[in-house]
Amino acid sequence: MVSQKTTLLIIGGGPGGYVAAIRAAQLGIQTTLVEGGNLGGTCLNIGCIPSKALIHAADAYHQAHHFMGDSTLGIHVEGARIDIAQTVRWKDGIVARLTGGVGALLKKHGVQVIKGWAYMVDGKTVDVDLGRGDAEPTRIQCEHLLLASGSVELGLPGMPFSDTLGGKVISSKQALSPDHIPKKLVVVGAGYIGLELGLVYRKLGADVTVVEAQDRILPLYDEELTKPVAASLRKLGVQVLLDCQVQGLSHGGEGVRVLDAAGRESVLEADQVLVAIGRAPHTHGWGLEKLMLEMQGRALKVDDQCRTSMRNVWAIGDLTGEPMLAHRAMAQGELVAEVIAGKSRRFAPTAIAAVCYTGPEVVVAGLSPADAAKANLDCIHASFPFAANGRAMTLESTDGFVRVVARRDNHLIVGWQAVGAGVSELAAAFGQSLEMGACLEDVAGTIHAHPTLGEAVQEAALRALGHALHI
Ligand code: FAD
Ligand code: NAD
Repeated sequence: MVSQKTTLLIIGGGPGGYVAAIRAAQLGIQTTLVEGGNLGGTCLNIGCIPSKALIHAADAYHQAHHFMGDSTLGIHVEGARIDIAQTVRWKDGIVARLTGGVGALLKKHGVQVIKGWAYMVDGKTVDVDLGRGDAEPTRIQCEHLLLASGSVELGLPGMPFSDTLGGKVISSKQALSPDHIPKKLVVVGAGYIGLELGLVYRKLGADVTVVEAQDRILPLYDEELTKPVAASLRKLGVQVLLDCQVQGLSHGGEGVRVLDAAGRESVLEADQVLVAIGRAPHTHGWGLEKLMLEMQGRALKVDDQCRTSMRNVWAIGDLTGEPMLAHRAMAQGELVAEVIAGKSRRFAPTAIAAVCYTGPEVVVAGLSPADAAKANLDCIHASFPFAANGRAMTLESTDGFVRVVARRDNHLIVGWQAVGAGVSELAAAFGQSLEMGACLEDVAGTIHAHPTLGEAVQEAALRALGHALHI
């Protein structure tokens, strides 16, 4: 058996693993990264980037259609047609550029990248199957083992995912590489993926029905924020069935059986079914159980330095549970490399912003008014509507608002929320103000460029202080 030694061995080349590898190499740590699929992981290949690319393409197509029937702006379009194969090629081109860039960065920093599937032997030893038929695996021994194997999509019993593109029951992975747009799409789950991709398919021409088990869409977000999203779904003709469970495929296979809250069953016709009911940490199928690491629910338990319960075995990203977001995985990856290099770091962010790229977009960072109340914090909060923001008017996107939550006693800002077109870009301002401990007066006293959506951020702070200027 071929064997080799390294100081840091990283399993998984997603945003957690590849960022950890780059930072570790920068700090002079001999680093080997094993990736069985493609560098960039879920995020770059079948997650964040491809979904945002398709959201952009679907928005552009929808806009072109809009101009066929509405000439408010004086724009007339005769017809619009989409070549979905070309759209997918364009999306794949962006993915290739980014994943190629990750490979180049790893090479530049001297990280050894091994393409193969890792299988745990013990906490310091891993076998890698290089996929060369019956050739023996390569054995790697390390001082530090960093687990960054990400997460996998959850399925529904009796509804296995099709292996092929264009199959009946699909996950987000297949939905991101459509070979055609189905006439009728049923989406199971009105969470991040269900709504982001459900809207894409609707804008590309499918009849979309979303089936959600809970009594409202995006149950992770506070209800006020999701109202403009619900209104937009209605306007676009997306049918949303709340308090409903998909039971399985119908007997003839022409659709899905749905059970409502009153116990009534009905059949929804579907050419395709996108199951988007959440993801689970990728803990099975690669010998991880042998290490008998402490778990927290389905995730690996880690402390605030990303240490697992075994010495010198570390874990980051989706494998360690919620929030399963790429920027959290990256931040943990950078931190763990620094801890291994001997730096004193703790993973204790004031807030991790979360964005849902629906139309309109939703962004949250820190505490909502309800979270603050639950935490027994005496807070004030104020909102500023985009209906009173000039930039929003010029973008024809006046739905939504920015809300700030701050402590009543010292005005320390503890949370931001916004819903509206393009508000994902406010995540940076929200995150910075929370990490830097800004007070309402700091944001209210900062000159915000005009005309920008960001002025609504300043106005929300002014309003919380009782003297908003433009409302
Ligand atoms: P991953 O990116 O999953 O990477 C893990 C890697 O490990 C994979 O490449 C896998 O092949 C490899 N691996 C696993 N086991 C082994 C093994 N035994 N041997 C070798 N290699 C192995 N997050 C956001 O923040 N913003 C978004 O807009 C967003 N959009 C998303 C859209 C979709 C459709 C999906 C599915 C997810 C989205 N996410 C988004 C979530 C984001 O993709 C994840 O949080 C992020 O990728 C987690 O990074 P990670 O490094 O922990 O794991
Ligand atoms: P999710 O947790 O966001 O939403 C799943 C939804 O499915 C929930 O509303 C849940 O109530 C519903 N559900 C669960 N079981 C159901 C059932 N049997 N029938 C009907 N509804 C059911 O999960 P997701 O949309 O699959 O996304 C997975 C993860 O990927 C997210 O949690 C997030 O971490 C990540 N992600 C992030 C982004 C982003 O940051 N913009 C985008 C996509 C995915």
